[in-house]
Amino acid sequence: VIAARGVRKSFGRTEVLRGIDLSVAPGEVMCLVGPSGSGKSTFLRCVNHLETIDAGRLSVRGQLVGYEERGGRLYELSEKAVARRRRGIGMVFQRFNLFPHMTALENVCEAPVQVKREPRERARERARALLARVGLGDKADAYPSQLSGGQQQRVAIARALAMEPELMLFDEPTSALDPELVGEVLDVMRALADDGMTMVVVTHEMGFAREVGDSLVFMDDGVVVESGAPEAVLGDPRHARTRAFLSKVL
Ligand code: ATP
Ligand code: MG
Repeated sequence: VIAARGVRKSFGRTEVLRGIDLSVAPGEVMCLVGPSGSGKSTFLRCVNHLETIDAGRLSVRGQLVGYEERGGRLYELSEKAVARRRRGIGMVFQRFNLFPHMTALENVCEAPVQVKREPRERARERARALLARVGLGDKADAYPSQLSGGQQQRVAIARALAMEPELMLFDEPTSALDPELVGEVLDVMRALADDGMTMVVVTHEMGFAREVGDSLVFMDDGVVVESGAPEAVLGDPRHARTRAFLSKVL
């Protein structure tokens, strides 16, 4: 679903991604860990077509990010084409970013109705089912301010799923939550993984990485330092940088 080869990205003079190589297979759950500033969010933003890359090759769902290949030549994509490609990808952030003036149900319906032009009744029906799936069947009419952080994050997941993505990206989805609310969000993500969703999860939750992740990638300073089965990377890290990082988060 994702193939990255030598992906580079700079902001001004700072090279944030310095040659990222990784791939994510259909149904795979990849957990991405690394110190602050190592480029994790930037990489996810590239995968989600929110940034263009400076060098290397990044393809998502078989399509190049930022470009279209026709007859062996690359053409830059129009904004409209980029928006179309982003529809197949769901993203959940640390901050839930729900629309505050809309109920949970309306938040989930918004994109299908506005972007996909889905009939409102059908979108509402699907939204109800999605809210039930994240354990919020009884909160459809609540506003974000009436929900806990964990509930808001679960609405955000339902909202992303409403676009029927083939790939879900999570950027520290539980980092802003009170500790007692982390579990309910991880449980929803675990269920999604069990259903076969392809996921990239930036997280410090090593228990989740170990139990749910198919692979674990450790990034530092814009490169992949180490990757492999979570058991292997966590149990027997090869690199000093990985060991130093893990000793702080485990
Ligand atoms: P964290 O764990 O703190 O979220 P991260 O691994 O997600 O860190 P990034 O957010 O990808 O790291 O940032 C990597 C580097 O790129 C940082 O030094 C950051 O300041 C810089 N950076 C990110 N976005 C921009 C931007 N739009 N303009 C300039 N610099 C940026
Ligand atoms: Mg980040």
